[in-house]
Amino acid sequence: MQKQAQQHLKSLNEALDVLAKYTLPVDTRGALLLTRQRLKQFERSLQSPKQDGLQAVYRIAQSLGTTLNLDEVLNHVMDAVIELTGAERGFLTLVDEDTGQLSLQVARNIARETLAHADMQVSRTVIQSVVEKGEGVVTTDAQSDPRFAGQESVIFYDLRSILCAPLKVRGKIIGVIYVDNRAKSGIFGRENLDLLSVFAAQAAVAIENARLYTQTDQALAARVKELETLSQIDHDLNAHLDFERVLGLVRNWATKSTDGLESWVFISGEDVDALMLADGPMDGATPSPALSDVASFLDKPTPQTLSPQDKNITYLIAPLLHAGKTVGALAISREKDFSEVEIQFVQRLASRAATSIANNRLYQAVEQANRSKSQFLAIVTHELRIPLTSIKGYTDLILSGSAGAEVTDLQRQFLGVIRKNVNRMADLIADLADISRIERGILKLDVEDVSIIQCLQDTLDSLRHKIEERNQTLVVKKSDIPPVEADPKRVVQILTNLISNAWKYTPDGGMITIAVFEQKDTVRIDIQDTGIGISPEDQTKLFSQFFRSENQAVRDQNGWGLGLNVTKQLVEMLAGEIGFTSQLGEGSTFWFTLPLTHLAKNEGETDE
Ligand code: ADP
Repeated sequence: MQKQAQQHLKSLNEALDVLAKYTLPVDTRGALLLTRQRLKQFERSLQSPKQDGLQAVYRIAQSLGTTLNLDEVLNHVMDAVIELTGAERGFLTLVDEDTGQLSLQVARNIARETLAHADMQVSRTVIQSVVEKGEGVVTTDAQSDPRFAGQESVIFYDLRSILCAPLKVRGKIIGVIYVDNRAKSGIFGRENLDLLSVFAAQAAVAIENARLYTQTDQALAARVKELETLSQIDHDLNAHLDFERVLGLVRNWATKSTDGLESWVFISGEDVDALMLADGPMDGATPSPALSDVASFLDKPTPQTLSPQDKNITYLIAPLLHAGKTVGALAISREKDFSEVEIQFVQRLASRAATSIANNRLYQAVEQANRSKSQFLAIVTHELRIPLTSIKGYTDLILSGSAGAEVTDLQRQFLGVIRKNVNRMADLIADLADISRIERGILKLDVEDVSIIQCLQDTLDSLRHKIEERNQTLVVKKSDIPPVEADPKRVVQILTNLISNAWKYTPDGGMITIAVFEQKDTVRIDIQDTGIGISPEDQTKLFSQFFRSENQAVRDQNGWGLGLNVTKQLVEMLAGEIGFTSQLGEGSTFWFTLPLTHLAKNEGETDE
C-alpha cells in the first residue's frame, strides 16, 4: 500500500516538474506551488507510522531501565513487543548459560505446553533459523514461504504470519523474541521486523543488565551466607579446647555444609606416614575411605574427589594444611558428585579445621608443659624447704650463742647476711609452693567468717616497725565492717604483699594510706602510696609471673616478681576482685574486694 502510494507520488511530482518548465500564468504557478506543498505533506504523513513506531520504541526502551528485576524486565519487554507489533500472541526465550538451550521465560496468549505441540513446529523452525543466522525473520504467510515448505505440521498451521527477532548483546545471542498473528487479523511487513529489531537491541541490553545484576546479587548473597557459616565455624572451633570436641565439630560442619553422608578426620603425627583415623561416625552407613587412598592425597594443595569402583559413593578428600605443613585430612562421602562451589567451601573449612587442630595440639602441649612445670616446682620447693629450715635453725642457734664458742662481731655480721638471704630464699619458696599448689588445683582454703580489721591489725603489727624505719606515714581509715567470707591466713598474706609493695616502692618520708569500706556485697580495701608509680607500659605486664619493672628504684629492692601474681590468684579464689590505678612518679593505689558473709548479706537485704 505504502509503496504504491509512494510510486504515485513520485509520478505526480515528475509531472509537476515537467509543468514547471513551462511559462505559466501567475495564478497557475501559485496553484502548482500549493499542490507541491500538499504533496510533500502527504508524503510525510505516509512515513509517520514508522516514525510513530520509532518514537514508541524509544519511549518504551527508556522505561526499561527503571528496574533491574529480571522478571519485571522480561514482562515489560514482552508487553512492549505486543504493543509495538500489534501481535495476537508471543513469547520470549533466553539462552540458558549452563546448557546453551533456549528456555521459555514469558508468553502472552500461549500456554507453555502449547509450545511443544506439533502445530508449533513452524514456530520452532523459525526460532531455530533466527538463532542459527542471528537475524530476524518475518513471514507473511508461512504456508507459502519457501523457507518452511515441506514442514508436515504446516497443515495444522493456521495461516500465521510470524515475526521473530534475536536478542543480541555484543554480537552474542542471549535469546529470541517471537510474535505471531493469524493471517486474517493482520500480516507483518518488513517495517514491523525493522521496528522489532531496533527494540530487541535495546531490550537485550536491559535483559542482560538485569541478568548480570541478579547473578551478582545471588553471588553476593551466597558469599555473605558462606561467610556467616565460616564465621560460625570459627566461633565454634575456637570456643573449645577439647581436642575430641573440635574433631567432632569439624566433621559435623563438613557433613552439614555439603549435604554429605558422613565425614572422617585423619590426623598425621610429625611423620606424615603415621596417618591415622582420629574421628569418624560410630556405626557409619558408608565405609571410611582407605587409609592408603587418603595418604596419597595429603600432598595435594586442594581437595580431590575419589570414586572407588566397588562403591556407589564419591569421597571428597581435603588435606588439612597449616603453615605449610599437613596435619591430617578431612574426608566426606556422598552419593552424587561434589560441585566446584562445594569443593571450594570444603577447602576453606579444611584450612580452618587445620588451624584449629594445630592450635589445639599446641594448647595440649603447653598444658602438658605447665603440668610438668607445676610438678617440678612442687618437688623443688619441697626438697629446698628442708635444708633451708635447718640452715636457718643452725644460724639462729649460733647467733644466740647456744652453740658454744662466743660469736665475734665479724661472725655475727656474716651470720646476719646468711639469715637475710635464707629469709629471701624462704619467701621465694613459699611463693613458688603456692603457685604450684594453685596450678595443680590443690591449694586448700580454710574459709570462715573473718574480721578484715583484725587481719589488717595482724599484718600491720609485723610491718609497722619497717614503715617507721623509713619515716613513712601510715594512715588507716576504717569503720565498723561486717565480717567477710575468707581464709584469714590468706587474707593476711594478701595484705602483707600489697602493703609490703607500698612500703618497698615508696621513698623514705612518703605516705601509705589504707582505707577499708563496704562496697555493695563486698568489703573493699584500698592501699594507696605516694611512691614511684608504674609506667603505662609496665601496667600491662603487672600480675604476670616474675615481672619486675626495669626502674632502678624497683631493682634496689628485694623481690622475685611473684607476689602480685600469687595475690591476684588468692583474691580470685576467695571470690574477690583486684585492681589498681597508678601514675608514674606520683604513686599507686592497689585495691581488692572480698565478699561479705551470707549472714551479713542477708541482714543487709532485710534492712532495706
Ligand atoms: P616484687 O615486689 O617482688 O618485685 P610483685 O609481684 O609484688 O613482685 O610486684 C611486681 C612488680 O610490680 C614490682 O617489681 C614493681 O615493679 C611493681 N609494683 C608492685 N607494687 C608496686 C607499687 N606499690 N608501686 C610501684 N610499683 C609496684
